[in-house]
Amino acid sequence: MASVHPAWSLERLENACRKELLSRARLKLTELPMGKVADVEWVGDGPRKIRMDHHNDGLRPATLHELLHSVLDDSLSGFDELCSEEIVRSLEGLLDQRICKSRRRLAWWRREIEARLK
Ligand SMILES: [Zn+2]
Repeated sequence: MASVHPAWSLERLENACRKELLSRARLKLTELPMGKVADVEWVGDGPRKIRMDHHNDGLRPATLHELLHSVLDDSLSGFDELCSEEIVRSLEGLLDQRICKSRRRLAWWRREIEARLK
């Protein structure tokens, strides 16, 4: 099977999410409907507007979740919404575990998320 990209590893995913956060993510804290933690809105290559309700879940996992949707958009196009959601949720958990094992990574994500909140 031909693939355009090299295989996604956690390292590549984290790097892509970092780049996505720095280059075009806008974070906003707001109240979301019950059961909803975050969502993302984007138009073409423009900014990704990520809305989060920090009363429903942690900011870092919610940010990672929405960044993964954005970063993996092409890869997920072959899956329906239910399957995409499961894949992203699973990767979000793995990525967050990776970040939580490193003081340096945790500090980076804390700093950059806080810098983009409004
Ligand atoms: Zn999702």
